[in-house]
Amino acid sequence: MTREFQVQGVRVSELARRYGTPLFVYDGTALRDRFHGLRDRLHPAMEIFYSLKANPNISICALLHSFGARAEVSSLVELTTALRAGVPPQQVIFLGPGKSRQELAACLDTGIYAVVCESIPEVALVDELARERGVKAPVALRVNPRFAVKRSGLAMGGKPRQFGIDEEELFGQNDLVKRFPDVDLMGVQVYMGTRILHEAVIVENTIRILDLAERLSDALNLELRMVDVGGGLGVSYFDGESDLDAQVLTDGLNPVIEDFTARHPGTRLIMELGRYLTAEAGTYVMGVRYTKTSMGERFAVADGGTHHHMAAVGIGSFVKRNFPMAVLNRLDEPATEEWNVTGPLCTPGDTIGKKVPLPPVRPGDLIGVHRSGAYGPTASPGLFLSHGYPAEVLVHEGRCHLVRERDRPDDLLKRQRLYDPTAQDNTTHER
Ligand SMILES: *Cc1c(COP(=O)(O)O)cnc(C)c1O
Repeated sequence: MTREFQVQGVRVSELARRYGTPLFVYDGTALRDRFHGLRDRLHPAMEIFYSLKANPNISICALLHSFGARAEVSSLVELTTALRAGVPPQQVIFLGPGKSRQELAACLDTGIYAVVCESIPEVALVDELARERGVKAPVALRVNPRFAVKRSGLAMGGKPRQFGIDEEELFGQNDLVKRFPDVDLMGVQVYMGTRILHEAVIVENTIRILDLAERLSDALNLELRMVDVGGGLGVSYFDGESDLDAQVLTDGLNPVIEDFTARHPGTRLIMELGRYLTAEAGTYVMGVRYTKTSMGERFAVADGGTHHHMAAVGIGSFVKRNFPMAVLNRLDEPATEEWNVTGPLCTPGDTIGKKVPLPPVRPGDLIGVHRSGAYGPTASPGLFLSHGYPAEVLVHEGRCHLVRERDRPDDLLKRQRLYDPTAQDNTTHER
């Protein structure tokens, strides 16, 4: 028998048979180990919030919450997801540059811990909504800092950005607390960028953010009940990258946290993590439909592709690099050939792996893309060519759970309407 990829003893061929392909499989044990690998080493004063953007599946959120994660959300649906997953409102924060009135109202009505505001006009709107409701709105200010980090995959600070309020501008606004009487300015948030793979950079960011928060709280005379130091912890995908070492990272972070909490014992410290918590636990499984050659190169045409996994096409990189991939049903066969792994979309861009070293591929094989638990289907053009969403399965404690059904044709068609040439549209449009 050939060796097969398994998730907690469940063979990939069994998963494909039961749920079909393409399919995302999440390993609950991997999720738990990832969370605890950091949680158990990190200073207890630093709380870990899960950024639902990375993988908004409600079961993933619920499972991470069961391990101790709180939630950072950026849309009404993410907020609803976190609350339905059982995260208490006091463990939820909402951020994002373009929150609607409805979203801000929901933040106040559900009583979440903090609304992270990204502009002064947004603070003004929250102030107005709080006044209408007769409540005081807990608001943290997102700062666009003067400094930037080097060696971050996608830097957020030190540049003109739609995110946050420029550090310089904020220091000139020492009447904020007075200007917005129905807002409770209670904290500061900074997010320096994603995919950071150097422990020292994360420590350096944290030091600078805590320092900035202290200086701001002095300058604006705001109570510092919360500081959210962002995170941006990366995972390695490509050759030449290596994963963060949680021990090295926390050896660097913990004294910084200890020092800060000694000065500010009542301040809640938050780190918001997406990719770091979920990427490793997910595998994207595609079935090979056809194999062919073109001008001397081999192609495995699969049933899945970039419409579910745009991230695998390369992140912030012009040189195309491949995610770790394998023929999952024949793990022990040596990778003696190079294969282009492509999907069903009518665009050359639907190439999920270029010249991937694989064993000889046959129709019916299951090709897997590892480390695919973050920024998968929800960060991909899932509606392109109307294939819709794949199924998502969580394996936890040896049991399989279908946590998202595959889109069926009717799911994709039901919101379209065939116009009637003889009729006039009398629909009142909802906004
Ligand atoms: C995207 C985002 C996150 C999560 O980023 P990861 O790199 O997945 O951890 C956290 N905070 C903010 C503000 C973000 O925009």
